[in-house]
Amino acid sequence: MGKPTGFMEFAREAPASLEPDARIRNWDEFHIHMPEERLRQQGARCMDCGVPFCHTGTLLAGMASGCPINNLIPEWNDLVYRGHWRDALERLHKTNNFPEFTGRVCPAPCEGSCVLGIIEPPVTIKAIECEIIDRGFAQGWVVAVPPAERTGKKVAVVGSGPAGLSAAAQLNRAGHEVTVFEREDRVGGLLMYGIPNMKLDKVGVVKRRTDILAAEGIRFVTNTEVGKDFPADRLLKDFDAAILCCGATKPRDLAVPGRELAGVHFAMEFLTDNTKAVLGTPGAGKISAEGKDVIVLGGGDTGTDCVGTSLRHGCRSLVQVEILPKPPLQRAADNPWPQWPKIYRMDYGQEEAAAKFGSDPRIYCTTAKRFIGDSEGRLRAVELVDVEWGKDAQGRFAPKEVSGTEREAPAQLVLLALGFLGPEDVLPQALGLERDSRSNVKAEHGRFSTNVPGIFAAGDMRRGQSLVVWAINEGRAAARECDRYLMGSTALP
Ligand SMILES: Cc1cc2nc3c(=O)[nH]c(=O)nc-3n(C[C@H](O)[C@H](O)[C@H](O)COP(=O)(O)OP(=O)(O)OC[C@H]3O[C@@H](n4cnc5c(N)ncnc54)[C@H](O)[C@@H]3O)c2cc1C
Ligand code: SF4
Repeated sequence: MGKPTGFMEFAREAPASLEPDARIRNWDEFHIHMPEERLRQQGARCMDCGVPFCHTGTLLAGMASGCPINNLIPEWNDLVYRGHWRDALERLHKTNNFPEFTGRVCPAPCEGSCVLGIIEPPVTIKAIECEIIDRGFAQGWVVAVPPAERTGKKVAVVGSGPAGLSAAAQLNRAGHEVTVFEREDRVGGLLMYGIPNMKLDKVGVVKRRTDILAAEGIRFVTNTEVGKDFPADRLLKDFDAAILCCGATKPRDLAVPGRELAGVHFAMEFLTDNTKAVLGTPGAGKISAEGKDVIVLGGGDTGTDCVGTSLRHGCRSLVQVEILPKPPLQRAADNPWPQWPKIYRMDYGQEEAAAKFGSDPRIYCTTAKRFIGDSEGRLRAVELVDVEWGKDAQGRFAPKEVSGTEREAPAQLVLLALGFLGPEDVLPQALGLERDSRSNVKAEHGRFSTNVPGIFAAGDMRRGQSLVVWAINEGRAAARECDRYLMGSTALP
């Protein structure tokens, strides 16, 4: 423990961001690095608890509590406080293949369960993680390390999101010959086409890492959908095992009148098209919010990314509709520490919208009743209605429309960010995979093997739409089990 009294001497400080007015003018990342001295002070706030809840990584009340990849947080907080950055990087890479991703986009369940958080603002864990790895890259400490020996075994990884990338990295480290199939034109899954560039830089951060993986010997095959361009039955003919990491990409739709109107899009159509345009892909940039009244349906992370993207396009107005009630400002009595605090937060998109239009764009307990078009089939407005929450006939909490609250809101672009319904069907059906009650591919957490010997599943495809850090947890652990299957035992963590 670096400084036993650090938590009493120093207040929590997080890295500053560029002002919203400045950052919405481009697609660049907008967090500013903290000066070294001040960040080391933040490391000194860690109490090196006897039981460090920050790295437990369990599910409490359905939400992550502590770090799902069990990052050795107190150890690297101490190393940072002492200025041993390279040792801190080594410790960080022991549990996390991609700290530059989590250090930018993780919601930081570690901070929600930090013991200091019971009485004071928690330790700035995520910012410290990000600084360790960014410094590692800047110093040239992060380089390709190909395995010394090869086993002669061949493994296919299908899908190149964080689950697929971490599985591939671990299997390659164990000496297997790894091929990653990706149906998109670029690798990264939702790290590439989902999370926008201002949260996670596509070339400077995502490609930087996948280039290292390629240099370590991993083969990436893009523009190739397994089950279509590459027959599913070849997976076990051409390879000794396969790990499926295809994500949970089926979007939830809203079957209300007017759904077919031009101007109503799934969030992922909009976000993918936009990132392709930012990266200069020919033909991209077809869906624009410029000069439009935009309504984003869905108050979660995907909705927030639609808000931030629409603002950068130059939308005329913006409303984000959330069907749930507004969360409380402080933890509710039934949401105690160390559970993830379900409290009201302004994320980057809402901050930016508030700076531009004067207030948080979210309206709560509201839903869309129908989309209204003009004579040419183009969206011109959305009929919104308030809902109230109560128990239905089965005793479950459900929304009920409040009659008399219907009103029209102008909109020429609606983005549906209503969540995801699980993995697509083609590949699981082609391989005869069992599914669970939520339609995810059935493979017990810890084993990751499906009902077909030699085929493993990990990430959102197995657990449903989740977080990058859970995808890394699953990719790493599925690689370990795959290695055990191939070799009879495993030394992978
Ligand atoms: C808009 C958005 C924003 C998000 N923001 C955050 C955030 O800020 N922080 C966070 O922690 N989480 C965030 N998430 C969630 C997070 O991105 C996912 O939980 C995570 O990416 C899941 O990783 P994965 O590897 O399982 O799947 P994915 O990242 O979905 O990758 C699956 C990949 O498989 C490919 N694929 C599918 N089928 C095939 C096939 N048959 N053949 C070849 N390739 C195939 C897909 O093209 C895709 O590239 C966000 C999600 C969305 C949608
Ligand atoms: S990966 Fe997420 S939960 Fe784990 S230490 Fe980093 S920010 Fe915290």
